[in-house]
Amino acid sequence: MNARNDTSSIINPTESVESDYSALMNITPRPETIFVRGEGDILFDQSGESYIDWVQGWAVNCLGHCPLEIVDTVTEQAKKLINCSPAFYNQPMMELASLLKENSCTDRVFFANSGAEANEGAIKLARKWGKLHSNGAYEIITFQNSFHGRTLATMAATGKDAWYNLFPPSIPGFKKAIYNDIDSVKTAISNNTVAIMLEPIQGEGGVISAQYDFIQGLQALAQEHSLLLIFDEVQTGIARTGKLFGYQHFGIEPDIITLGKGLGGGVPISALLAKEEVCCFEPGDQGGTFNGNPLMTAIAQTVFNITRTDEFLAAVEDKSARFKYHLEKLIKKYRGCSYRGHGLLLAMELPTPVAKEIVEKAYESKLIINAPRENILRFMPALNIRDSAIDLGFDIIDSVLADVL
Ligand SMILES: *Cc1c(COP(=O)(O)O)cnc(C)c1O
Repeated sequence: MNARNDTSSIINPTESVESDYSALMNITPRPETIFVRGEGDILFDQSGESYIDWVQGWAVNCLGHCPLEIVDTVTEQAKKLINCSPAFYNQPMMELASLLKENSCTDRVFFANSGAEANEGAIKLARKWGKLHSNGAYEIITFQNSFHGRTLATMAATGKDAWYNLFPPSIPGFKKAIYNDIDSVKTAISNNTVAIMLEPIQGEGGVISAQYDFIQGLQALAQEHSLLLIFDEVQTGIARTGKLFGYQHFGIEPDIITLGKGLGGGVPISALLAKEEVCCFEPGDQGGTFNGNPLMTAIAQTVFNITRTDEFLAAVEDKSARFKYHLEKLIKKYRGCSYRGHGLLLAMELPTPVAKEIVEKAYESKLIINAPRENILRFMPALNIRDSAIDLGFDIIDSVLADVL
């Protein structure tokens, strides 16, 4: 019997699940459904209903729900060593760092637990580098419409106007330029500028890709003014866009890369990667109790060894082509719609602000999708989603669109 069958036999679908909603802080509107089990591209709720899941823990479960490879790794590693403190080396931490180094343009890795924490590390590393090598420059140019996380510094880096006065005072040192507008970046550069930080595709902002020439221009500016180029690949990394890393679409090499989301295939682990010249942290500058623990790094190693192969990346492109085939059909059928994105980070733009309504109706029809903007649907399924789960999902979207548009 495999691990999946074990799980299903433990959970009785009719058993009542604790539902004291008031014990949780209210940080987001949620449906009352309580989810109890997942299997590949399907989620099951407490009453046994199944949902096709194209959100996958927010682009996190790149191998789908509860893949056997992760279940096996958790079991084996948990029996060996769960945490020996970040003050000691452990085997999975060493192996994962080497893998990331060998498969990217960077040389050293710092592990953390969330995307925001990796980005905090990137900001600290850039400021330290500026202090040592750029006359104390500390300012980082980030972009309107960007998303870098929910810690105080990453909120300040994020390009959402509504966030500035949420928890004043905001952390200084971030200047906003306009995405895909190289002149706006030139204007923003001052003697205090140390780095340019961006997502190669703005995910939360609505799946907006950087243009090739824009990134080339950024690299030229970075060279001319001795600035660091920081790629926030928390969403675009780990094969999400059809390449192992998003920067590989643009013919450049960032100085610093952050990873999160897909790196752990569902568990909390993130990473800050940098080129040797930039790695200026000294003991005492950076740390964290759970960072690089063997349980999470063993899981990420399993995920990375699957997702980094040419066969896997080719399969992501095949799935992407199947999504695009369906999206083409939909935009022919419903006027004013369009789609965009790379790999399995895709979005459909709607002619009117009905995305929320579509997400709700799709949910009632047991398809889970997301609306990062009021007129945009975003699709971020498991990278190994079955063709049948793609086709079924589009049947649901088609009937919801027919109803709403
Ligand atoms: C999700 C996301 C983050 C934040 O990651 P957390 O793990 O939620 O802290 C940062 N940057 C980008 C591009 C993201 O998509």
